[in-house]
Amino acid sequence: MQTMKANVFYGPNKIGIEEVPRPSAGVGEAVIRITLTTICGTDLHILRGEYPVKPGLVIGHEPVGVIEELGEGLSGYKIGDRVLVGAITPCGQCRACLSAQWAQCGDGEGIEAIGGWRFGNTINGAQAEYLLVPNAQANLAKIPDELSDEQVVLLADIASTGFSGAESANICIGDTVAVFAQGPIGLCATAGAKLIGASLIIGVEGDPVRVEMSKRMGAHVVLDPKQCDVVAEIKKLTGGGADVAIEALGLQVTFENALRCLRPGGTLSSLGVYSGKLQVPYDAFAAGLGDYKIVTTLCPGGKERMRRLMSMVRSKRFDPLPLITHSFKLDQIVEAYEVFGSRRDGCLKVAIRP
Ligand SMILES: [Zn+2]
Ligand SMILES: [Zn+2]
Repeated sequence: MQTMKANVFYGPNKIGIEEVPRPSAGVGEAVIRITLTTICGTDLHILRGEYPVKPGLVIGHEPVGVIEELGEGLSGYKIGDRVLVGAITPCGQCRACLSAQWAQCGDGEGIEAIGGWRFGNTINGAQAEYLLVPNAQANLAKIPDELSDEQVVLLADIASTGFSGAESANICIGDTVAVFAQGPIGLCATAGAKLIGASLIIGVEGDPVRVEMSKRMGAHVVLDPKQCDVVAEIKKLTGGGADVAIEALGLQVTFENALRCLRPGGTLSSLGVYSGKLQVPYDAFAAGLGDYKIVTTLCPGGKERMRRLMSMVRSKRFDPLPLITHSFKLDQIVEAYEVFGSRRDGCLKVAIRP
């Protein structure tokens, strides 16, 4: 039996590189040799035991690689093709997929909440030497020759998720947009708001490295929640309330502030992953009569989403490279989690190479 190195989740606060069986491709599947991957904030939730996955699972969901093996039933691909695979791998055939709800893919059974997120959640993930890609025909996105692995790796999740926060809010040209938290996803939401055509983008963030990057990604103003009353300041800057607020942290306080800073009829676009109970305060909600819209989005995946995002990098409309601040070998992944999790040395995203 052939084996490979992979980052295995053993239990809360316990991960490590282990030799595990190397996957082989069945019908409709492909195996890719990973050339570059990264660590997501969601992987930190898994590591800390805040998002449950089964012990023994290989984690990670942001793969760039080269096709190593193609199962039966695939067409248009050959061994050696460079590919990007989204964090979400819809089947392309089920009721959810065919209703364009890719992330809620029920894999033939119907609609399942979060069902499209399989890598490092319900099947082995990308922090490994090799990765089995399910429903490969719907999910292998060929990388144009002129784009490097580094230029596309953050499209698998971070950029797709961040942009979706702006897209789901239906931002109109000229809208004012507040983005709560400027971690990697919030930064991409800021970039998405700029791409769609917001007239004023207000970032909410206190970390100096992230404040700087927020301006680089398109924020006009960045407010430090420790230094000012963010809601009052946003209302002042927008003349009564923002058209759109994007929540990119997953806390009660940021959710609530995102709601409070809106104008009546505004849209709260929520990207954060919450735990426990989330409450909507009566007053901030105008007793349910304020025409507010609250929308949530899980990272859109599938090869067409990846193709579109790669076309944005190719045409130089979006540059994700500045967000990759650190680089590690797969063998050093425990250290990489530590640096990423503690934001040490201004860490935003790490490149992990097998
Ligand atoms: Zn993720
Ligand atoms: Zn599906």
